[in-house]
Amino acid sequence: MTNEKKASPQGGGICCCGDGKSAYMDMEGGEKQLGRTKVLLPSCCGTCSTACIERLAPDYEITVFFYNPNINEKDEYEKRKANQIKFIEKFNETKQAPFKVSFMEGDYDVDRYETVCGPFKDEPEGSHRCELCFRLRLEKTAMTAAMRNFDSFTTTLTVSPHKDYDVISSIARKYADIYKVGFLDIDFKKKDGFRRSVELSKKYELYRQNYCGCTWSKWWLE
Ligand code: SF4
Repeated sequence: MTNEKKASPQGGGICCCGDGKSAYMDMEGGEKQLGRTKVLLPSCCGTCSTACIERLAPDYEITVFFYNPNINEKDEYEKRKANQIKFIEKFNETKQAPFKVSFMEGDYDVDRYETVCGPFKDEPEGSHRCELCFRLRLEKTAMTAAMRNFDSFTTTLTVSPHKDYDVISSIARKYADIYKVGFLDIDFKKKDGFRRSVELSKKYELYRQNYCGCTWSKWWLE
């Protein structure tokens, strides 16, 4: 069972129970279970998603959202997408509905990403460019979750030891409020999440890149 904090949408009679099931209050005030809640999980690659999916799957109906205009080299984007799908297919082989994971691809709007983040391309990872990148991706996620009637969204971003959990959490909470959708506020790197993602990545023979995503994060390694 997950142990996350939740930012709940305002209004509406449906709430999230601790075990990830939807519930509502009946006329007598008794709580009734409706079923598993739907969560949208944005992911940048198969590797980052592994430990997050493993953790959420017992309690949530997961759709992986592959919205990554930040991977602004098309070959790299396709490689990561293929490995994301490969992991989901392998994971689903042993699962029955509703425990299977779904996949949804977002727009590949590289122009938008480069307009927003390009002015800061000379800055290192962890700089203002990354905060703008988180905002772009998390706003699209929150908007998509709200439009497609998901109960909540979360993010694989927090599994990385190179990313600031507090920054990610505060941005995601802001968009959860704006778009009136729940946010599962989970620091996935805790409980050995990052180590587990590396372990699962090896087990499923996934491609594991050594840089974040944009071409500018690759520059710093060269
Ligand atoms: S380093 Fe990663 S988080 Fe930062 S701007 Fe590039 S892709 Fe986005």
